[in-house]
Order: sequence, then C-alpha cells, then structure tokens
Amino acid sequence: MTYDVFVVGGGPSGATAAEDLARAGKRVAMLDRDGRIKPCGGAVPPRAIQDFAIPDDLIVAKVSTARMISPTGRSVDIHIENGYVGMVDREHFDEFLRVRAVQAGADRLTGTYLRIERDSAGTHVVWRDKASGEERRSLTKLIIGADGARSVVARDEVPGGDTIPYVIAYHEIIKAPEAMAAANADYDPGRCDVIYDGRISPDFYGWVFPHGAQASVGMGTGIDGVNLKEATAALRASAGLTACETIRREGAPIPLKPLDRWDNGRDVVLAGDAAGVVAPSSGEGIYYAMLGGRVAATAAQAALASGKARDLKLARKLFMKDNKTVFKVLRSMQDAYYKSDDRRERFVSLCHDIDVQKLTFEAYMNKKLVAARPLAHLKIGVKNVAHLMGWVKPSWT
Ligand SMILES: Cc1cc2nc3c(=O)[nH]c(=O)nc-3n(C[C@H](O)[C@H](O)[C@H](O)COP(=O)(O)OP(=O)(O)OC[C@H]3O[C@@H](n4cnc5c(N)ncnc54)[C@H](O)[C@@H]3O)c2cc1C
Repeated sequence: MTYDVFVVGGGPSGATAAEDLARAGKRVAMLDRDGRIKPCGGAVPPRAIQDFAIPDDLIVAKVSTARMISPTGRSVDIHIENGYVGMVDREHFDEFLRVRAVQAGADRLTGTYLRIERDSAGTHVVWRDKASGEERRSLTKLIIGADGARSVVARDEVPGGDTIPYVIAYHEIIKAPEAMAAANADYDPGRCDVIYDGRISPDFYGWVFPHGAQASVGMGTGIDGVNLKEATAALRASAGLTACETIRREGAPIPLKPLDRWDNGRDVVLAGDAAGVVAPSSGEGIYYAMLGGRVAATAAQAALASGKARDLKLARKLFMKDNKTVFKVLRSMQDAYYKSDDRRERFVSLCHDIDVQKLTFEAYMNKKLVAARPLAHLKIGVKNVAHLMGWVKPSWT
C-alpha cells in the first residue's frame, strides 16, 4: 500500500503530525526507533496543555514559581499568576502521544530510518525493522522528517539541514529530596530554579526542575570543552542536592536556530528539532515541536490536495507568522545577557521588575506578546539600555 505521509520520528512533533493527518483521514505511518527516553526537563506551558489536549494525569508537577538566581547568588521569585507550568515525564508523555496517534488511525512502525530512495514507482522510505532486523521499503507520497536534533532526514534531504548550531544539554534525573532534606536543600516541588552563573554554564543556564517524586538538574552549553558532569555536580552541590540518589544521567543537543528551509521542494518537510525549532534563551522545544508537527501536517494536506510540492513551504510560513517575533526577541536577549557574569547579574536584576515579569511570563505561558502600558514599555527599554551600556550597577533593579 502507498502511504499519503510517512512520518519519521514519534516524539512530540512526529506524533502530533501523525495524529493530525490520521484524523484528517490520511494513510499515515509513524516510525520511531523506540527504546530511549528523550533527555528533557519536561516543562510545558499552559498553551501547550490547552492546544494539544494534554491530560492532567500526565502532569507530574505543577509549578507556580520560577526562581531566577544570579552569579552572586541573588535571586528573584516570579510567581505565576492564573495558572502553572506543567512538568511531564517524557517516558510517559511521548508514549501517550504515540498511542493517541495510533488511536486516530496512524500505523505505528518500530525501527530505524535509513534513507529515502526514489524510482519510477515513487518515493520509498527505507528503514530497519527493530523486531526482525530486516530492511523494509515503504512507498509514500510525502515524508515528514521529525527525527529530532541531528536529524538524518534533514541532513540528507534539505539544503542546510546539517548546519544547525546546537547547545549540548545535560541533566541528571534524581530522586526528589524528602520533606526534611528539602528544607535543607531549599528545594520546593512547586518551584523551577533557573541558574544564571558562568561557573555552571558560560553561555546558557542551569536548572532544577521538580518532577513529583523526581527532579531534573542540568545545564546546557554550546562551548566545547566544558565539563557538563562537573558543572552539574557543582550545581547539585550549590542547591544542596548532592546526596539525592541519581536515577539517570543523560544529555542531548538542543538546536539553536530554525532552518531557512524546512522542505526539499519535492516530497519532504521537517518538523520540530529537525527543523531547528527551539526557543532561544529558554531552550523550550516541546510546544514548538508539537506546533511544528501540526503545521507540517497542514502543509502536507495542502500539498496532497493540490499535487504541488511548493505547498510544503506552508509549514514554515505558518509557524513563522506567529512565532518569528518571539524568537527574534529571545535571540537578542540571549545574545545580550548570556555572555558574561556581569550581564547575567544584570539580567536577574531586570527580572525584579514586575512589568518584565508580566511580559516575559505572558509570552512563555500563552505564546503571546502582549501590549503592556506604554509607560511600562518605555521603562523596560530605559532599564535595558542602562544595563547594557553599563550606566548602572549590575545589581540595580
Ligand atoms: C536536556 C534537555 C532538556 C530539555 N528541557 C526542555 C524543557 O524543559 N521544556 C521544553 O519545552 N523543551 C525542553 N527541551 C527540548 C525538547 O526536548 C525538544 O525540543 C523536543 O523533544 C523536540 O521534539 P521533537 O519531536 O522534534 O524531537 P524528539 O523529541 O527528539 O523526537 C524525535 C524522535 O525521533 C526518533 N528518531 C530519531 N532518529 C530516528 C531514526 N533514525 N529512526 C527512527 N526514529 C528516530 C527518536 O526516537 C525520537 O522519539 C530539552 C532538551 C534537552 C536535551
């Protein structure tokens, strides 16, 4: 049989694309190699929970405060009004999404993508079946490459697909401290800590994210030679979490820049990390991957209906229409404030401003850039310039 769409990858982007296509009545395959839990902090904003109907039982912790910590140890707690940040365990979250895609009608295939071949019969995805070890060839009209960071589909099929810059993120999943120990560790199961400190990460940040019975403690960096394990050990020590049992140690790349092209002008379109779509500054990728899967499915349906490959471009167009400005703002923020401890100190100072908190959290939670009072924008702009020009002390709020 010929598939309408063959989706490579069953993470948030691939499973969302497969589910949407199956619901639209398309013949769709979803291939995942399976067997590895995606390393991830698992923080998802309310917009993702709402738009992608994430059930409450997948949320293992509800976070109501974000604590920003500066290199000198100053901190500011940002209380999340009217809602919470949900924490998911990727082991169960990804599996839920895959099962939901199958329930909608997608064929689930377990194995490893190898390559694409084209002949007079059409386009074939060649993959290795996990159970038998045999090579299989599946005929399809279109392919969605949702195989994550360092995507093989992107590398082989889409111009520029092998040039995405990355940070490497590493984390340790630990047993969350018990109540008594938590008091010593200053650990709060309802609070995410974000640590801006060059000793933990010289160009990104470190984090402590609660996950119910577990917690994720980690950091990211794009600089070669940084010892990720030592940095994470230092972070655990400073957070009082050294003694907690370590359940898993794992790392993976986070792409830093959306590709200029997401399709090959013929029969392939990319989604999620494969397209380089993770928010700068925060490294947030789950919501954007699911949205990427959704717009890739929309573009694939348009191309199937029209028979025109150029409709695959719709995926990037739709995505950028709503998110280009946020990505631009976050990129400039990262470039300006993640480069030295002096700048990180200033960044945490800015986070003391209630209007900065409101604007950034609205953008994170609901993916909207809201217009604040004109005077608030002016005030933030002035503070920003004052810090970047060094006119005020780093601790000035
Ligand atoms: C340490 C770390 C912490 C993070 N924390 C957060 C966070 O707190 N919040 C957040 O929003 N984002 C976070 N991210 C980013 C987020 O995890 C990703 O952006 C998101 O998983 C991207 O989804 P995806 O579906 O595009 O790719 P993935 O989740 O990587 O899924 C790709 C899928 O493709 C499959 N695959 C890959 N290659 C093949 C192949 N050759 N054949 C068959 N299958 C294949 C894989 O098995 C996988 O299931 C974090 C990332 C890291 C590394």
